[in-house]
Amino acid sequence: MKDIAGTALEKYLDETLSDYPPDYREWAKGLVLTVCNVIRDETVCKMCGACCCQEELTLTDNDVERITEHLNLKKSELVKRYLKRKGGYWIMRESKPCSFYDRETKKCRIYDVRPEMCNLFPVYSPAIISSIVPLFEAYRMKGSVIRKKNEEDNTCFPEIYDKLYKIIEYLTKRDTM
Ligand code: SF4
Ligand code: SF4
Repeated sequence: MKDIAGTALEKYLDETLSDYPPDYREWAKGLVLTVCNVIRDETVCKMCGACCCQEELTLTDNDVERITEHLNLKKSELVKRYLKRKGGYWIMRESKPCSFYDRETKKCRIYDVRPEMCNLFPVYSPAIISSIVPLFEAYRMKGSVIRKKNEEDNTCFPEIYDKLYKIIEYLTKRDTM
């Protein structure tokens, strides 16, 4: 499985942590990337389909190239059918669910060439990613970490939150001993 380092997530962390001193930024980034890799590799997918119904699915130029080749389409055709431009990225026109999501099999129809953002799921979802940096910030400030719990949630997110909280708790305790 592709390592998270060097990906869109790393870019996101660079931007999010840009106001912090370089030493802290590198430390926090390394820690978050390590934790994300471990959590992603250990999380069991329940095939709920939630990650194929995100508000905004972002694609890089490399993603577009790969998918174009795989579908044997011209780039202009792929763009016309499925994509639109936003900022420096491409986004899927339809994302709830994504046009490549097969509702019957609950699988991706372009799995082998799926966008990087999908490959990084479930860690690189807006819900998880928006929790990670504040969690680490709470840890840095030695503040308390509020545990979110939703027993009804049948995605893999509760499992990820659990792991994240455990890691943060462990780190906080270790550093105050
Ligand atoms: S949200 Fe999690 S459990 Fe649901 S399909 Fe995506 S990876 Fe699997
Ligand atoms: S490209 Fe595939 S994995 Fe990604 S959101 Fe669409 S259906 Fe899901």
